[in-house]
Amino acid sequence: MNTKELWEKCLSEIELGISKANFTTWFKNTSIVKEEAGTLYIGVPNEFVKDWLYNKFHKLILKTIIGYEDGVRSIEYIIHKNENNIKATEGTIIKQVNINKELPLSDLYLNKDDNLNPKYSFNSFVVGPFNELAYAVSQAIITNPGQNYNPFFVYGGTGLGKTHMIQAIGNTIKTKYPHKKIYYVSLERFAIDYINSIQNKNPNSFKEKYRKYDVIIMDDIQFISGKDKTQEELFHLFNTLYENNKQIIFSSDKHPNFIQGLEERLQSRFASGMTVQIVEPDYESRVAIIKAKFESTNCIINNEIVSYLAEILEGNIRELEGSLNTIICQTQLKNKSLSLNEVKTLIKNNIKPKKTVAIKDIVTIIANYYDVVEEAIYEKTRRKEIVKARQVAMYILREDFNISYPLIGSKLGGRDHTTAIHSHLKIKEDLKTDPALLQEIEKIRIMFK
Ligand code: ADP
Ligand code: MG
Repeated sequence: MNTKELWEKCLSEIELGISKANFTTWFKNTSIVKEEAGTLYIGVPNEFVKDWLYNKFHKLILKTIIGYEDGVRSIEYIIHKNENNIKATEGTIIKQVNINKELPLSDLYLNKDDNLNPKYSFNSFVVGPFNELAYAVSQAIITNPGQNYNPFFVYGGTGLGKTHMIQAIGNTIKTKYPHKKIYYVSLERFAIDYINSIQNKNPNSFKEKYRKYDVIIMDDIQFISGKDKTQEELFHLFNTLYENNKQIIFSSDKHPNFIQGLEERLQSRFASGMTVQIVEPDYESRVAIIKAKFESTNCIINNEIVSYLAEILEGNIRELEGSLNTIICQTQLKNKSLSLNEVKTLIKNNIKPKKTVAIKDIVTIIANYYDVVEEAIYEKTRRKEIVKARQVAMYILREDFNISYPLIGSKLGGRDHTTAIHSHLKIKEDLKTDPALLQEIEKIRIMFK
Protein backbone atom coordinates (compact mmCIF):
# COMPACT_ATOMS: atom_id res chain seq x y z
CA MET A 1 0.00 0.00 0.00
CA ASN A 2 1.52 3.37 -0.88
CA THR A 3 1.25 6.34 1.47
CA LYS A 4 -1.58 7.90 -0.53
CA GLU A 5 -3.73 4.79 -0.25
CA LEU A 6 -2.79 4.42 3.41
CA TRP A 7 -3.92 7.96 4.20
CA GLU A 8 -7.14 7.53 2.22
CA LYS A 9 -7.96 4.41 4.19
CA CYS A 10 -7.17 6.17 7.47
CA LEU A 11 -9.26 9.19 6.53
CA SER A 12 -12.29 7.14 5.62
CA GLU A 13 -12.05 5.42 8.99
CA ILE A 14 -11.49 8.66 10.92
CA GLU A 15 -14.44 10.23 9.12
CA LEU A 16 -16.76 7.61 10.56
CA GLY A 17 -15.80 8.49 14.12
CA ILE A 18 -16.09 12.28 14.16
CA SER A 19 -18.60 14.91 13.04
CA LYS A 20 -18.63 16.00 9.42
CA ALA A 21 -17.78 19.59 10.36
CA ASN A 22 -14.80 18.48 12.38
CA PHE A 23 -13.62 16.18 9.70
CA THR A 24 -13.78 18.79 6.96
CA THR A 25 -12.19 21.49 9.09
CA TRP A 26 -9.25 19.51 10.34
CA PHE A 27 -8.56 16.82 7.79
CA LYS A 28 -9.17 18.69 4.54
CA ASN A 29 -5.88 19.25 2.72
CA THR A 30 -3.89 16.82 4.81
CA SER A 31 -1.72 14.10 3.39
CA ILE A 32 1.09 11.78 4.24
CA VAL A 33 4.02 13.65 2.84
CA LYS A 34 6.58 10.92 3.25
CA GLU A 35 7.65 7.97 5.29
CA GLU A 36 11.22 7.73 6.42
CA ALA A 37 12.82 5.22 8.74
CA GLY A 38 9.55 4.39 10.44
CA THR A 39 8.48 8.02 10.78
CA LEU A 40 5.37 9.23 9.04
CA TYR A 41 5.22 12.91 8.13
CA ILE A 42 1.70 14.22 7.96
CA GLY A 43 1.37 17.38 5.93
CA VAL A 44 -1.09 20.01 7.16
CA PRO A 45 -2.02 23.40 5.66
CA ASN A 46 -1.12 25.70 8.58
CA GLU A 47 0.09 26.13 12.20
CA PHE A 48 -3.40 26.12 13.54
CA VAL A 49 -4.44 22.80 12.02
CA LYS A 50 -1.07 21.39 13.08
CA ASP A 51 -1.67 22.28 16.73
CA TRP A 52 -5.25 21.21 16.64
CA LEU A 53 -4.57 17.77 15.16
CA TYR A 54 -1.84 17.27 17.69
CA ASN A 55 -3.90 18.37 20.67
CA LYS A 56 -7.26 16.86 19.78
CA PHE A 57 -6.88 14.07 17.29
CA HIS A 58 -3.46 12.68 17.79
CA LYS A 59 -4.54 9.53 19.60
CA LEU A 60 -7.11 8.77 16.95
CA ILE A 61 -4.68 9.31 14.08
CA LEU A 62 -2.04 7.21 15.75
CA LYS A 63 -4.40 4.35 16.44
CA THR A 64 -5.81 4.38 12.94
CA ILE A 65 -2.43 4.41 11.26
CA ILE A 66 -1.05 1.61 13.38
CA GLY A 67 -4.15 -0.40 12.44
CA TYR A 68 -2.91 -0.45 8.85
CA GLU A 69 0.85 -0.11 9.25
CA ASP A 70 2.27 -1.53 12.42
CA GLY A 71 5.81 -0.73 11.27
CA VAL A 72 5.23 2.97 11.95
CA ARG A 73 7.36 4.08 14.88
CA SER A 74 6.67 7.76 15.11
CA ILE A 75 4.68 10.58 13.61
CA GLU A 76 5.55 14.16 12.82
CA TYR A 77 3.28 16.95 11.68
CA ILE A 78 4.65 19.39 9.16
CA ILE A 79 3.25 22.38 7.38
CA HIS A 80 2.86 21.45 3.78
CA LYS A 81 0.94 23.65 1.42
CA ASN A 82 1.79 22.07 -1.88
CA GLU A 83 1.79 18.32 -2.19
CA ASN A 84 4.85 18.31 -4.40
CA ASN A 85 6.80 20.56 -2.13
CA ILE A 86 7.98 18.71 0.93
CA LYS A 87 8.89 21.10 3.69
CA ALA A 88 10.20 18.77 6.32
CA THR A 89 12.66 21.30 7.62
CA GLU A 90 13.53 21.57 11.28
CA GLY A 91 11.52 24.70 11.93
CA THR A 92 8.27 23.25 10.77
CA ILE A 93 8.37 20.00 12.70
CA ILE A 94 6.55 20.45 15.95
CA LYS A 95 6.25 17.20 17.68
CA GLN A 96 7.88 13.90 17.30
CA VAL A 97 6.01 11.04 18.77
CA ASN A 98 7.70 7.83 19.69
CA ILE A 99 5.29 5.03 20.10
CA ASN A 100 5.59 3.56 23.54
CA LYS A 101 2.42 1.96 24.75
CA GLU A 102 3.35 2.17 28.42
CA LEU A 103 3.41 5.93 28.65
CA PRO A 104 0.36 8.17 28.65
CA LEU A 105 0.21 10.01 25.36
CA SER A 106 0.89 13.38 26.88
CA ASP A 107 4.30 12.15 28.05
CA LEU A 108 5.28 11.01 24.62
CA TYR A 109 5.99 14.48 23.28
CA LEU A 110 8.59 15.25 25.84
CA ASN A 111 12.26 15.15 25.27
CA LYS A 112 13.59 12.12 27.10
CA ASP A 113 16.80 13.74 28.39
CA ASP A 114 15.38 16.85 29.92
CA ASN A 115 11.62 16.29 29.93
CA LEU A 116 11.10 19.75 28.44
CA ASN A 117 8.25 20.42 26.08
CA PRO A 118 9.58 22.47 23.14
CA LYS A 119 6.26 24.24 22.69
CA TYR A 120 7.00 26.49 25.68
CA SER A 121 9.18 29.38 24.61
CA PHE A 122 9.52 33.05 25.41
CA ASN A 123 8.59 33.91 21.82
CA SER A 124 5.00 33.11 22.58
CA PHE A 125 5.08 34.49 26.13
CA VAL A 126 3.37 37.81 26.77
CA VAL A 127 4.94 39.97 29.46
CA GLY A 128 2.90 42.53 31.38
CA PRO A 129 2.72 44.01 34.87
CA PHE A 130 1.22 40.75 36.13
CA ASN A 131 4.33 38.70 35.41
CA GLU A 132 7.10 41.15 34.59
CA LEU A 133 9.12 40.61 37.73
CA ALA A 134 9.05 36.85 37.24
CA TYR A 135 10.05 37.43 33.62
CA ALA A 136 12.94 39.70 34.57
CA VAL A 137 14.24 37.11 37.01
CA SER A 138 13.93 34.44 34.31
CA GLN A 139 16.09 36.50 31.99
CA ALA A 140 18.69 37.09 34.70
CA ILE A 141 18.83 33.35 35.34
CA ILE A 142 19.29 32.65 31.66
CA THR A 143 22.21 35.10 31.58
CA ASN A 144 23.85 33.54 34.62
CA PRO A 145 22.35 30.23 35.67
CA GLY A 146 23.01 29.25 39.28
CA GLN A 147 24.54 32.60 40.20
CA ASN A 148 22.16 35.19 41.56
CA TYR A 149 18.60 34.04 41.88
CA ASN A 150 18.90 30.67 43.49
CA PRO A 151 16.50 29.09 44.12
CA PHE A 152 13.93 30.84 41.99
CA PHE A 153 10.49 30.21 43.46
CA VAL A 154 7.57 31.33 41.34
CA TYR A 155 4.05 31.00 42.65
CA GLY A 156 0.52 31.95 41.66
CA GLY A 157 -2.92 30.57 40.84
CA THR A 158 -3.63 27.94 38.25
CA GLY A 159 -3.43 28.78 34.54
CA LEU A 160 -1.34 31.93 34.99
CA GLY A 161 1.72 30.73 33.09
CA LYS A 162 4.04 29.16 35.68
CA THR A 163 4.68 25.98 33.73
CA HIS A 164 5.04 27.92 30.49
CA MET A 165 7.57 30.27 32.03
CA ILE A 166 9.76 27.77 33.85
CA GLN A 167 9.84 25.45 30.86
CA ALA A 168 10.74 28.39 28.62
CA ILE A 169 13.67 29.09 30.95
CA GLY A 170 14.76 25.48 30.51
CA ASN A 171 14.38 25.57 26.74
CA THR A 172 16.31 28.83 26.45
CA ILE A 173 19.17 27.65 28.66
CA LYS A 174 19.28 24.47 26.63
CA THR A 175 19.81 26.42 23.41
CA LYS A 176 22.23 28.87 24.92
CA TYR A 177 24.38 26.40 26.85
CA PRO A 178 24.23 23.07 25.01
CA HIS A 179 26.60 21.45 27.48
CA LYS A 180 24.42 22.10 30.52
CA LYS A 181 22.30 19.27 31.80
CA ILE A 182 18.76 20.41 32.46
CA TYR A 183 15.87 18.50 33.94
CA TYR A 184 12.22 19.43 34.25
CA VAL A 185 10.11 17.36 36.61
CA SER A 186 6.79 17.73 38.35
CA LEU A 187 6.88 17.16 42.08
CA GLU A 188 4.56 14.21 41.60
CA ARG A 189 6.89 12.58 39.11
CA PHE A 190 9.83 13.25 41.42
CA ALA A 191 7.98 11.55 44.29
CA ILE A 192 7.17 8.53 42.10
CA ASP A 193 10.80 8.30 41.00
CA TYR A 194 11.86 8.31 44.59
CA ILE A 195 9.35 5.64 45.66
CA ASN A 196 10.35 3.45 42.70
CA SER A 197 13.99 3.69 43.67
CA ILE A 198 13.15 2.51 47.18
CA GLN A 199 10.97 -0.31 45.91
CA ASN A 200 13.69 -1.39 43.51
CA LYS A 201 16.14 -1.19 46.39
CA ASN A 202 18.24 1.23 44.44
CA PRO A 203 18.05 4.60 46.16
CA ASN A 204 21.51 5.51 44.95
CA SER A 205 20.43 5.51 41.31
CA PHE A 206 17.85 8.13 42.25
CA LYS A 207 20.38 10.24 44.12
CA GLU A 208 22.88 10.02 41.28
CA LYS A 209 20.31 10.85 38.67
CA TYR A 210 19.15 14.06 40.31
CA ARG A 211 22.54 15.23 41.47
CA LYS A 212 24.02 15.28 38.00
CA TYR A 213 21.99 18.17 36.66
CA ASP A 214 23.10 21.77 36.25
CA VAL A 215 19.55 23.08 36.22
CA ILE A 216 16.59 21.44 37.96
CA ILE A 217 13.10 22.75 37.31
CA MET A 218 10.48 21.37 39.66
CA ASP A 219 6.84 22.11 38.90
CA ASP A 220 3.86 22.15 41.27
CA ILE A 221 5.90 21.76 44.41
CA GLN A 222 2.75 22.29 46.54
CA PHE A 223 2.04 18.58 46.09
CA ILE A 224 4.85 17.87 48.52
CA SER A 225 2.34 18.31 51.37
CA GLY A 226 2.30 15.20 53.48
CA LYS A 227 5.07 13.43 51.57
CA ASP A 228 7.59 13.32 54.40
CA LYS A 229 10.17 11.02 52.86
CA THR A 230 10.13 12.95 49.62
CA GLN A 231 10.67 16.15 51.60
CA GLU A 232 13.67 14.63 53.31
CA GLU A 233 15.13 13.55 49.98
CA LEU A 234 14.45 16.90 48.38
CA PHE A 235 16.12 18.65 51.29
CA HIS A 236 19.38 16.78 50.74
CA LEU A 237 19.19 17.15 46.99
CA PHE A 238 18.59 20.87 47.38
CA ASN A 239 21.64 21.30 49.60
CA THR A 240 23.92 19.41 47.25
CA LEU A 241 22.76 21.28 44.17
CA TYR A 242 22.80 24.62 45.92
CA GLU A 243 26.32 24.19 47.30
CA ASN A 244 27.49 23.41 43.81
CA ASN A 245 25.85 26.51 42.34
CA LYS A 246 23.36 24.55 40.31
CA GLN A 247 20.28 26.48 39.35
CA ILE A 248 17.08 25.36 41.08
CA ILE A 249 13.66 26.56 39.95
CA PHE A 250 10.39 25.78 41.70
CA SER A 251 6.78 26.55 40.89
CA SER A 252 3.88 26.32 43.27
CA ASP A 253 0.31 27.48 43.53
CA LYS A 254 1.12 29.15 46.83
CA HIS A 255 3.90 30.89 48.72
CA PRO A 256 6.23 28.46 50.55
CA ASN A 257 4.86 29.67 53.89
CA PHE A 258 1.39 28.52 52.89
CA ILE A 259 2.23 25.02 51.72
CA GLN A 260 0.66 22.90 54.39
CA GLY A 261 2.78 20.35 56.17
CA LEU A 262 5.99 21.65 54.64
CA GLU A 263 8.97 21.18 56.94
CA GLU A 264 10.33 24.46 58.20
CA ARG A 265 13.84 23.82 56.92
CA LEU A 266 12.47 23.34 53.39
CA GLN A 267 10.15 26.31 53.74
CA SER A 268 13.08 28.56 54.55
CA ARG A 269 15.22 27.13 51.76
CA PHE A 270 12.48 27.55 49.18
CA ALA A 271 12.15 31.19 50.14
CA SER A 272 15.88 31.83 50.51
CA GLY A 273 16.51 32.96 46.94
CA MET A 274 14.08 34.88 44.81
CA THR A 275 10.37 34.37 45.45
CA VAL A 276 8.03 35.96 42.94
CA GLN A 277 4.29 35.86 42.48
CA ILE A 278 2.47 35.82 39.14
CA VAL A 279 -0.99 37.29 39.42
CA GLU A 280 -3.98 37.45 37.08
CA PRO A 281 -3.32 39.49 33.94
CA ASP A 282 -4.63 43.05 33.88
CA TYR A 283 -6.75 44.41 31.02
CA GLU A 284 -3.86 45.59 28.80
CA SER A 285 -2.05 42.30 29.24
CA ARG A 286 -5.19 40.41 28.30
CA VAL A 287 -5.42 42.51 25.13
CA ALA A 288 -1.82 41.57 24.31
CA ILE A 289 -2.39 37.87 25.00
CA ILE A 290 -5.55 37.79 22.90
CA LYS A 291 -3.86 39.55 20.00
CA ALA A 292 -0.87 37.23 20.18
CA LYS A 293 -3.04 34.10 20.18
CA PHE A 294 -5.06 35.24 17.19
CA GLU A 295 -1.97 36.28 15.27
CA SER A 296 -0.31 32.94 15.87
CA THR A 297 -3.23 31.22 14.17
CA ASN A 298 -3.54 33.73 11.32
CA CYS A 299 -7.08 34.43 12.42
CA ILE A 300 -8.11 37.99 11.68
CA ILE A 301 -10.09 39.77 14.32
CA ASN A 302 -11.01 43.40 14.74
CA ASN A 303 -10.02 45.58 17.67
CA GLU A 304 -13.56 45.99 18.88
CA ILE A 305 -13.79 42.25 19.46
CA VAL A 306 -10.36 42.13 21.08
CA SER A 307 -11.41 44.87 23.53
CA TYR A 308 -14.66 43.12 24.26
CA LEU A 309 -12.92 39.82 24.97
CA ALA A 310 -10.26 41.44 27.13
CA GLU A 311 -13.01 43.13 29.11
CA ILE A 312 -14.99 40.02 29.92
CA LEU A 313 -12.44 37.21 29.92
CA GLU A 314 -10.86 37.97 33.26
CA GLY A 315 -8.88 35.58 35.35
CA ASN A 316 -6.75 32.72 34.26
CA ILE A 317 -5.03 32.45 30.89
CA ARG A 318 -5.84 28.78 30.36
CA GLU A 319 -9.57 29.55 30.46
CA LEU A 320 -9.07 32.59 28.27
CA GLU A 321 -7.35 30.36 25.71
CA GLY A 322 -10.31 28.00 25.83
CA SER A 323 -12.68 30.79 24.78
CA LEU A 324 -10.30 31.99 22.07
CA ASN A 325 -10.06 28.48 20.67
CA THR A 326 -13.84 28.32 20.38
CA ILE A 327 -13.79 31.55 18.38
CA ILE A 328 -10.87 30.51 16.20
CA CYS A 329 -12.49 27.19 15.50
CA GLN A 330 -15.76 28.80 14.48
CA THR A 331 -13.94 31.33 12.29
CA GLN A 332 -12.20 28.49 10.49
CA LEU A 333 -15.45 26.63 10.06
CA LYS A 334 -17.24 29.65 8.60
CA ASN A 335 -14.14 30.71 6.72
CA LYS A 336 -14.79 34.37 7.53
CA SER A 337 -14.33 36.80 10.42
CA LEU A 338 -17.06 36.72 13.04
CA SER A 339 -19.08 39.76 14.04
CA LEU A 340 -19.10 41.01 17.61
CA ASN A 341 -22.59 39.61 18.10
CA GLU A 342 -21.58 36.20 16.84
CA VAL A 343 -18.62 36.23 19.25
CA LYS A 344 -20.88 37.22 22.13
CA THR A 345 -23.30 34.36 21.43
CA LEU A 346 -20.46 31.92 21.00
CA ILE A 347 -18.79 32.49 24.30
CA LYS A 348 -21.68 33.45 26.52
CA ASN A 349 -21.40 30.16 28.37
CA ASN A 350 -17.72 30.70 29.07
CA ILE A 351 -18.21 33.87 31.03
CA LYS A 352 -18.30 33.42 34.74
CA PRO A 353 -20.56 35.74 36.64
CA LYS A 354 -18.47 38.19 38.62
CA LYS A 355 -18.17 37.32 42.29
CA THR A 356 -20.78 39.38 44.04
CA VAL A 357 -21.35 39.32 47.70
CA ALA A 358 -23.43 40.83 50.42
CA ILE A 359 -21.15 41.84 53.28
CA LYS A 360 -23.81 40.59 55.64
CA ASP A 361 -23.57 37.03 54.27
CA ILE A 362 -19.82 36.94 54.87
CA VAL A 363 -20.21 38.24 58.38
CA THR A 364 -22.90 35.63 59.14
CA ILE A 365 -20.65 32.80 57.97
CA ILE A 366 -17.66 34.07 59.95
CA ALA A 367 -19.70 34.70 63.10
CA ASN A 368 -21.09 31.17 62.91
CA TYR A 369 -17.67 29.72 62.30
CA TYR A 370 -16.12 31.44 65.32
CA ASP A 371 -19.29 30.98 67.31
CA VAL A 372 -19.68 34.65 68.24
CA VAL A 373 -22.73 36.88 68.18
CA GLU A 374 -23.07 38.34 64.70
CA GLU A 375 -24.12 41.82 65.85
CA ALA A 376 -20.95 42.17 67.90
CA ILE A 377 -18.85 42.13 64.72
CA TYR A 378 -20.60 45.31 63.55
CA GLU A 379 -20.13 47.01 66.91
CA LYS A 380 -17.06 48.47 68.57
CA THR A 381 -16.54 45.61 71.06
CA ARG A 382 -12.86 44.94 71.84
CA ARG A 383 -13.42 41.44 73.21
CA LYS A 384 -10.62 39.22 71.96
CA GLU A 385 -12.71 36.61 70.14
CA ILE A 386 -14.81 39.32 68.48
CA VAL A 387 -11.76 41.27 67.38
CA LYS A 388 -10.34 38.19 65.72
CA ALA A 389 -13.58 37.34 63.88
CA ARG A 390 -13.87 40.97 62.76
CA GLN A 391 -10.29 41.05 61.48
CA VAL A 392 -10.78 37.84 59.56
CA ALA A 393 -13.97 39.26 58.05
CA MET A 394 -12.11 42.41 56.99
CA TYR A 395 -9.29 40.32 55.54
CA ILE A 396 -11.64 38.14 53.50
CA LEU A 397 -13.75 41.05 52.27
CA ARG A 398 -10.64 42.73 50.97
CA GLU A 399 -8.66 39.74 49.78
CA ASP A 400 -11.39 37.66 48.16
CA PHE A 401 -13.99 40.23 47.22
CA ASN A 402 -11.92 43.33 46.66
CA ILE A 403 -14.26 45.51 48.73
CA SER A 404 -12.79 48.97 49.34
CA TYR A 405 -11.18 49.73 52.70
CA PRO A 406 -13.47 52.70 53.46
CA LEU A 407 -16.56 50.56 52.84
CA ILE A 408 -15.23 47.71 54.99
CA GLY A 409 -14.35 50.16 57.75
CA SER A 410 -17.70 51.88 57.75
CA LYS A 411 -19.71 48.64 57.68
CA LEU A 412 -17.79 46.80 60.36
CA GLY A 413 -17.99 48.78 63.53
CA GLY A 414 -18.22 52.27 62.00
CA ARG A 415 -14.44 52.44 61.89
CA ASP A 416 -12.43 54.33 59.34
CA HIS A 417 -10.41 52.83 56.51
CA THR A 418 -7.15 52.67 58.51
CA THR A 419 -8.66 50.01 60.78
CA ALA A 420 -9.61 47.95 57.73
CA ILE A 421 -6.11 48.30 56.27
CA HIS A 422 -4.54 47.38 59.57
CA SER A 423 -6.74 44.28 59.97
CA HIS A 424 -6.09 43.13 56.44
CA LEU A 425 -2.33 43.44 56.82
CA LYS A 426 -2.30 41.93 60.28
CA ILE A 427 -4.06 38.75 59.15
CA LYS A 428 -1.86 38.62 56.07
CA GLU A 429 1.23 38.75 58.27
CA ASP A 430 -0.14 36.27 60.81
CA LEU A 431 -0.88 33.81 58.04
CA LYS A 432 2.82 33.56 57.28
CA THR A 433 3.53 32.02 60.64
CA ASP A 434 0.22 30.55 61.71
CA PRO A 435 -0.89 27.45 59.79
CA ALA A 436 -3.91 27.01 62.09
CA LEU A 437 -5.22 30.40 61.04
CA LEU A 438 -4.67 29.46 57.41
CA GLN A 439 -6.78 26.37 57.91
CA GLU A 440 -9.55 28.37 59.52
CA ILE A 441 -9.63 30.77 56.61
CA GLU A 442 -9.55 27.96 54.05
CA LYS A 443 -12.53 26.35 55.81
CA ILE A 444 -14.42 29.62 55.81
CA ARG A 445 -13.68 30.06 52.11
CA ILE A 446 -15.17 26.69 51.32
CA MET A 447 -18.47 27.95 52.72
CA PHE A 448 -18.63 30.73 50.11
CA LYS A 449 -18.35 28.34 47.18
P1 ADP B 1 0.12 27.25 35.22
O1 ADP B 1 1.31 26.32 35.15
O2 ADP B 1 0.39 28.48 36.00
O3 ADP B 1 -1.12 26.56 35.69
P2 ADP B 1 0.39 27.29 32.33
O4 ADP B 1 1.83 27.63 32.22
O5 ADP B 1 0.02 25.87 32.10
O6 ADP B 1 -0.20 27.76 33.74
O7 ADP B 1 -0.42 28.26 31.35
C1 ADP B 1 -1.75 28.01 30.95
C2 ADP B 1 -1.90 28.36 29.47
O8 ADP B 1 -1.77 29.76 29.27
C3 ADP B 1 -0.82 27.72 28.61
O9 ADP B 1 -1.38 27.30 27.39
C4 ADP B 1 0.18 28.82 28.39
O10 ADP B 1 0.89 28.67 27.18
C5 ADP B 1 -0.70 30.06 28.39
N1 ADP B 1 0.03 31.22 28.95
C6 ADP B 1 0.29 31.43 30.25
N2 ADP B 1 0.95 32.58 30.42
C7 ADP B 1 1.09 33.13 29.21
C8 ADP B 1 1.68 34.33 28.75
N3 ADP B 1 2.26 35.20 29.59
N4 ADP B 1 1.64 34.58 27.42
C9 ADP B 1 1.06 33.73 26.58
N5 ADP B 1 0.47 32.57 26.93
C10 ADP B 1 0.49 32.26 28.25
MG1 MG C 1 1.45 24.33 35.70
